[in-house]
Amino acid sequence: MVMSDPYHDWNLPARVARLKDLSYNLWWSWRPEARTLFKEIDRTLWAETYHNPVKLLRKCPPQRIQALLDDQSFLARYDVAVADFDRYMSASNTWFAKNQPEMKGKTIGYFSAEFGVHNSLRIYSGGLGILAGDHCKSASDLGVPLVGVGFMYPQGYVQQKISADGWQQNVYEPADWDNSPVRPVLGPSSGRMLLDIPLGRGAVKVAVWRVQVGRVPLYLMDTNVDGNSPQDREISGRLYGGDRTMRLRQEIILGIGGVRVLRALGVHPSVFHANEGHSSFMFLELAREKVSGGRTLDEALGEVAEMSVFTTHTPVAAGHDVFAEEMVAEYFSSYWPQLGVEREAFMDFARVPGEIGWNMTSLALKMAGRRNAVSRRHGRVSREMWKNLWPTRDVDEVPIAHVTNGVHLATWVQQELGAMYDRYLGCEWRDNQDDQALWSKVAAIPDEILWMQHNKNKSALLQLMRARVRARWMKGESNAAQTLAGGALLDHSALVIGFARRFAGYKRATLILKDVERLKKLLFDPWRPVQIVFAGKAHPADDGGKALIQQIYALAKDPAYGGRIAFVEDYDMHVARYLVQGVDVWLNNPLAPMEACGTSGEKAGANGVPNFSVLDGWWEEGYNGGNGWAIGEAGGRGAGPEADAADAEDIYGILERKLVPLYYDRDEFGVPRGWVKLMKESIRSVSPRYCADRMVKDYVNMLYAPKAAASR
Ligand SMILES: *Cc1c(COP(=O)(O)O)cnc(C)c1O
Repeated sequence: MVMSDPYHDWNLPARVARLKDLSYNLWWSWRPEARTLFKEIDRTLWAETYHNPVKLLRKCPPQRIQALLDDQSFLARYDVAVADFDRYMSASNTWFAKNQPEMKGKTIGYFSAEFGVHNSLRIYSGGLGILAGDHCKSASDLGVPLVGVGFMYPQGYVQQKISADGWQQNVYEPADWDNSPVRPVLGPSSGRMLLDIPLGRGAVKVAVWRVQVGRVPLYLMDTNVDGNSPQDREISGRLYGGDRTMRLRQEIILGIGGVRVLRALGVHPSVFHANEGHSSFMFLELAREKVSGGRTLDEALGEVAEMSVFTTHTPVAAGHDVFAEEMVAEYFSSYWPQLGVEREAFMDFARVPGEIGWNMTSLALKMAGRRNAVSRRHGRVSREMWKNLWPTRDVDEVPIAHVTNGVHLATWVQQELGAMYDRYLGCEWRDNQDDQALWSKVAAIPDEILWMQHNKNKSALLQLMRARVRARWMKGESNAAQTLAGGALLDHSALVIGFARRFAGYKRATLILKDVERLKKLLFDPWRPVQIVFAGKAHPADDGGKALIQQIYALAKDPAYGGRIAFVEDYDMHVARYLVQGVDVWLNNPLAPMEACGTSGEKAGANGVPNFSVLDGWWEEGYNGGNGWAIGEAGGRGAGPEADAADAEDIYGILERKLVPLYYDRDEFGVPRGWVKLMKESIRSVSPRYCADRMVKDYVNMLYAPKAAASR
């Protein structure tokens, strides 16, 4: 397949030519001055392209671009942004360079099935992908030499539309790579780089795309290329689509293909990091390389362990891929001889004692020398969960550490709020996000100013919701009840509770609806009304999750709830930003201990939106008595109807007695002083400890650097 790089197909006038470079590096998405630049070129197109600068620049009428050349103010800001970009890309005095001089010239290969970097790239589904995106962005900011490896899914992840009867419709939209911030990796001759990746008895052709996230490149594999069978073209078709066989084939390409892609590119990481078990096959491939280079299997496994990091992300059983051994055998019967082992020994790489099947998490836990969970509590839960792999050890000695997840502040903190932090904390907070002392200066922000900014963020959320339902209404795609269900009647002056996440059963989205009479009293209190905004997708094959959405949607449409319950369709990074910045309080009530970490509450907290959550995941370590509310008991109440009832009782009780009264307790200027104190404590306590900079530094210090040294 001959293909050129669409990057070269178009040009801009020389004076603003660098806009193209800015548009192809997602750095712009977390740099306010660059983002504003694109937005100002054409606000309508900006909205229509869903904030995709590549598409914006390509669709923009030439006379509009021409007009920019006479706009001195634009040109001045363009020059600033370009200079800032060049400085960023070439900086040599990064945190990493200063703190890890012995790792100079090394790279870290970071493998993930999904990357949530920006909406214009639909290659993420939820928490795991956003975490990977935030990891890459902070690695870039800190100068950590990360190289990402993943998939470019031509059909992305499901988009959500809710039908009139409240049922989630799964919509897939083919990606438009020519108008996306991606570039094909070209081979030595004129066409694309194409690799043949062995898959069972045959081979699959894999093409590679490159996405630039600041200084961090992502190499994304695509099997939708000429020469592949229709079935093989589908391998990278959809994120988490297809059956078990498809899943296994995807994971073989991700793990084994991923290593081969890096080799073909001449990238030889000293550390290989598997973000969740989808990419665990890479450890086998690394061992195979070493055996074919003359090592014994034991030597090879020892060396692989030295250079490998594995992060496990969930205590939920369905989150761990287990494949039938017969199925694995079908694909690996020619592979195990290359490792010098028989079938039984090969299957043992991934078995869990006492269980049946090939377990991808077990494979990674056995092969990677450093392993971690994603919060303190999840560390305890994971050690318990996997103790059978280390039968001679006490559970506390099971070698799974933890690094609590964090969020990329420059992505998630509302822009004007960030400027307020610049003013009161000093701009140095941006380069020292994990400095707790700096954040204590939040106290100096005048209450009125913080409160006013929050209300602006809240207006922005309500406006977004109205704009969306208006667009659907005008297209004739929705009826009046759906328009109200989408939030058209929300009242800006009334408390808004936000609840947004995947609709998986353990997240208990409908817990707050348990006692509808008590709920209605809260919603319709004449002095202190309450509203709830929900958002989230169910997995496209999960009818249980869709039924929960339907239950909520039914109330949202029901006149008896007065438009005070709303559901925002198609929860994605864009909607998530407005929600975590604009609701008044962030509710999370999973069944403990199933929430490994949870990151949306961290995003809310850093925006001054207090958390109201079960003591699970990050909140078990983050709650300090003054930055929000705790639902349930420290250890959790276990599963079952009584536990649900007790947790629901907590939710209502806290709302009635503490949370709602505090929100409406205003001084003579209308400022809720007690509430604002809580907002400030939230910002102060959450931002430095749950930012992705802290997380990436922990990964470097605890998991990457020693490995890197050992693998030399
Ligand atoms: C942050 C985020 C998530 C993860 O949220 P959890 O709290 O882990 O459930 C999921 N989806 C989107 C779109 C997000 O922005």
